[in-house]
Amino acid sequence: MTRYDLKIAGLIAALVVVIGLALGYGAGLMLGGRGDLPGAPPETPAAFAAAPAEEGTADRLANPAGGTLPGYHDVYVNDYAGLLDPAAEQRLRDEMIELYDHTGIEMTVLTIDSLSDYHHFGPIEPFATALFNAWGIGNAGRNDGVLVLVSLFDRRMRIEIGAGYDAAWDDRMQRVIDEGFLPDFRDDRYQAGIETGVRETIFELTGRYPGTYDTGLLRQGWSWIFWQLSGLGGWLWAVVAVPLAATALALRRYLRLRPRPCSNCGSLMHRLGEAADDAHLDGGQRLEEFLKSVDYDVWACDSCGQMDIHRYRNWFSAFGACPKCGYHTLKTQTEVLVSATTSSTGKKRLTYDCRNCGYHDTELRTIPKVSKSSSGSGRSSFGGGSSSGGGASGSW
Ligand SMILES: [Zn+2]
Ligand SMILES: [Zn+2]
Repeated sequence: MTRYDLKIAGLIAALVVVIGLALGYGAGLMLGGRGDLPGAPPETPAAFAAAPAEEGTADRLANPAGGTLPGYHDVYVNDYAGLLDPAAEQRLRDEMIELYDHTGIEMTVLTIDSLSDYHHFGPIEPFATALFNAWGIGNAGRNDGVLVLVSLFDRRMRIEIGAGYDAAWDDRMQRVIDEGFLPDFRDDRYQAGIETGVRETIFELTGRYPGTYDTGLLRQGWSWIFWQLSGLGGWLWAVVAVPLAATALALRRYLRLRPRPCSNCGSLMHRLGEAADDAHLDGGQRLEEFLKSVDYDVWACDSCGQMDIHRYRNWFSAFGACPKCGYHTLKTQTEVLVSATTSSTGKKRLTYDCRNCGYHDTELRTIPKVSKSSSGSGRSSFGGGSSSGGGASGSW
């Protein structure tokens, strides 16, 4: 590569990085400015454990308005309609535990076969309100609980929110239902709809998608951008990514193979073939080519005899640089000796072997402790919150 090529490549790379950073930060700022929660900072889990709501855990509860209500066995997911596989249920639970740990908001998902199973005939709204208050979802002081209720055979759903949310939140929950839950529900893909909808609900509540609470603006922004892109479907990736990758590959190939002038006399050089250039490489370089960690091109000038060797590193190679001979012929193997647990660190042994010079070394490294599961994971009852009927409904 000439100095000029490097300059162009550097400019393109810098531009891509700047645009990427700007997009990420922009989206991050946009998200950071929204989602102020009603009420105070999160309570301590200790105060929560003292809450009385054990009566909610029976199979059936009485509905004060007539009929019955389902009880709960879990404060995050009760999938009585069997719409979720165990892995999805765990993902949802983890997201709502994370929500609780960072904001104190108690959110819960309930699926049932039909309202008539509970002798309820008519709209879903009064049923959801009665259920919300019977379970006592949310902090009793802030009333910031959230109930997602899906009734399979009624093809109706509701997001019921606590009395702490003002009327503006009804519209936000309507957006979540219309854009998050219903598109998949209409295709009878309930698990996908619930997962998307729950993520959208959490985003609407906090301005952040699950998994991005502890990250900077940049990562939050990009997580939002990716989420938006993924919503557009796989075709977008085919439309954008395939030509982009093809262009990058073609550009790289052009830069590598294009004719170049001799730095000595100025006439055009020509590239030697793979077999011919081996004669001009040393043993270490030939081994790098053989291991495919580095590729070499040899360019020769017919006028003055000048010989240039260009190195192209393979970034996906498993071979690293050897500290002794410097060639990319070093293989690293990892062996776990003691696995890490939540209470103790682990140990692993790294073994380095150079295929070129025979350099050999081993190193013991500590594996960090596995982080403990969060405080919200031990919850067994709700905080005693109430709803005055706020939220939104949808049917499909
Ligand atoms: Zn020359
Ligand atoms: Zn070596």
